[in-house]
Amino acid sequence: MIDLIPATSYPGDLRVAAPPSARHLYIHIPFCHRRCAYCDFNTYANMDDRMEAYVLALCRELDAWRAALGAPRLALPRPAGAPPGALLRADLRPTVFLGGGTPSMLPLPLLERVLAAADAIVPLAGAEVTVEANPGTVLGRDYLRGLRGLGVNRLSMGVQSLHDPTLRVLGRIHTAAEARASYADARRAGFENVNLDFIFGLPGQTPAQWEATLREIAGWDAEHFSLYSLILEPSTPLFAQVQGGRVSVPDDDDTGEMYERAIELLGAAGYAQYEISNWARHADAQATAQPPHAAASAQLPIPAYACHHNLAYWLNADYLAAGAGAHGHAFPRRYADVLGIDEYIGRVASGRAPIAEITELSARDLQAETMFMGLRINAGVSYAHFRDRCGADMAEVYAAELAELAGLGLLERDELGVRLSARGRMLGNHVFERFV
Ligand code: SF4
Repeated sequence: MIDLIPATSYPGDLRVAAPPSARHLYIHIPFCHRRCAYCDFNTYANMDDRMEAYVLALCRELDAWRAALGAPRLALPRPAGAPPGALLRADLRPTVFLGGGTPSMLPLPLLERVLAAADAIVPLAGAEVTVEANPGTVLGRDYLRGLRGLGVNRLSMGVQSLHDPTLRVLGRIHTAAEARASYADARRAGFENVNLDFIFGLPGQTPAQWEATLREIAGWDAEHFSLYSLILEPSTPLFAQVQGGRVSVPDDDDTGEMYERAIELLGAAGYAQYEISNWARHADAQATAQPPHAAASAQLPIPAYACHHNLAYWLNADYLAAGAGAHGHAFPRRYADVLGIDEYIGRVASGRAPIAEITELSARDLQAETMFMGLRINAGVSYAHFRDRCGADMAEVYAAELAELAGLGLLERDELGVRLSARGRMLGNHVFERFV
């Protein structure tokens, strides 16, 4: 087992950065076939020959975390007196999320090793276990069947667009037809909880084109959609192409119209928007297969197929993270592992912690993050959740901010808590910065 004392300035050992137990675990897989033109994630192309060494290092980091943690405490009791309609950390299932990069590039035997190491921290049975997949890597049912057989019960596919010329501009490795086929394969492989990622506001995209995409995907019957507005990150080739006038993107009015169309059309198709960029289905009373948490979700202001791992972020819960560039959070600290694959492998191989930095958080940081993360959820931030997470009274801590934002029509308040109004949702950043 590696000794996880960080080599840099942090004086303690990993026990200092670890929460008393872990209910949420993020694992980063930083490999991609090639980099998409818009992507600034910590991921690397043409490094497939490091996969085995990386997985070995990752499993050693996970083993060290397991040793640093206290006894598993996967069920979190609801605080006494919390109203049933308030969404709390205790309402979330334990989660394991393999993101990237492209986790579906890992051969199944390597994924099996990662999941076995994860299972020792958050038992996969009873957990929401998500793997991100690129449609270009999973065509053919054997791989997806294998994933399902390893205990993965939620698949998150990055489709991004159903327009082949746009997919080429983005540098995606798949066509629209391949994305459709991969989704059908996922169903045949037995996945009953599938998320599909799309981006709108893409180069050359018109509101009519986006509407056609929405109409098609609303009929696919996926359990979950994540729809993101394109963000031009300065370090990306797409940013340079747009700056140089070689590629044009829709203006703010058109992008706003696309977002409104998504709300309208997915709503009409029976999807509940539960976060700024996320929609999910409610449990289907007629279906024989129900998500394991359907009964509990019925009492909560979220749809049955909401992503509990992402809800853990929005509820500002503690979560462990492992892998190159992964960020973990265990109040009063946040930590980040080193970015590079070789540096990560080298650190672990030499018995040093892969942690690059640890940030100390104040009570005020915790309160601010609980507000601006929680307000992303349509249900908002309940007084019970704020008290549970921060040990303080939201109405007292943020009396002036809440009054001002409610006065501007950006926040709604009731006896349960506060949430963004429809107008506030369009001006979310303006609201969030009031709490920073
Ligand atoms: S597949 Fe995903 S992680 Fe990889 S480069 Fe493209 S957007 Fe980034």
